[in-house]
Amino acid sequence: MQEYKTKISEIKHLTMRTLEVTVDLVEPISTRFTAGQFMQFKIGSVLRSYSIINVPDHNRFLKFCVGLLDNGEASDFFRSAKIGQELFMRGPSGIFSIENFSKNSFFVAGGVGIAPFCSMIPDMLARSYEGKAHLLFGVATEDDIFYFDRFNHLHNLYPNFTFTPIVSRPQLHWPGETGRVTTYLDVAYEYYKDYLYYICGSSEMVKDARDLLLKKGQNIADIKLEIFT
Ligand SMILES: Cc1cc2nc3c(=O)[nH]c(=O)nc-3n(C[C@H](O)[C@H](O)[C@H](O)COP(=O)(O)OP(=O)(O)OC[C@H]3O[C@@H](n4cnc5c(N)ncnc54)[C@H](O)[C@@H]3O)c2cc1C
Repeated sequence: MQEYKTKISEIKHLTMRTLEVTVDLVEPISTRFTAGQFMQFKIGSVLRSYSIINVPDHNRFLKFCVGLLDNGEASDFFRSAKIGQELFMRGPSGIFSIENFSKNSFFVAGGVGIAPFCSMIPDMLARSYEGKAHLLFGVATEDDIFYFDRFNHLHNLYPNFTFTPIVSRPQLHWPGETGRVTTYLDVAYEYYKDYLYYICGSSEMVKDARDLLLKKGQNIADIKLEIFT
């Protein structure tokens, strides 16, 4: 597997517990990957996987969306990371990618589980995808909202792409959908039953969404999963 020396070139705070981290490739100076793949960062003595969020394009820099957990090895590293800091990674890896360009697609993301879809959805739409695509993106509270504007913008560019943001525990008056992603899927499934499903997020969220879809009669071959362990 290819190894890369990189340098952190940008760190954006998306929420209190989510960063967008850009790394410039130093050696080799570019990479190619398929939308939906991930890289593994070497942090101290551990390897941690992060999905690439930019679209494939002979990339000289890569972007990642990093969730910050309490007392996590990688989380602690990224929490105090500095611009210019060296970072070693290897990859790309993974087979979570668009499988069928002629079938309608339904994407389900929880929190940083949105990461692979940031690459897969715009890449697919730009490559003359003619089916319909829907994204259901759940976060916990209004303070955890990020990238909603990015997908609203994508909907304006591509009318065959629609987007449902959902907040599970709104603190104020959130005007949109509320509940867990499964709350929405339970009601909306009938409308989306001929879709191919892509689900990404924590193991609990992915398992709950998959179990609900199977209970509704979804064919297991039409459910693709990426679990952030
Ligand atoms: C294919 C793939 C793609 C991924 N893509 C992304 C992505 O795009 N963005 C993203 O944010 N994450 C992604 N992940 C998850 C990511 O790789 C890390 O697992 C995650 O960020 C946590 O890493 P960490 O080192 O910070 O936490 P870890 O050190 O692994 O700890 C995880 C949690 O366990 C707790 N913990 C650790 N040790 C103990 C212990 N001894 N007892 C009790 N609790 C303990 C920590 O407090 C922490 O909350 C992906 C995972 C996979 C498999």
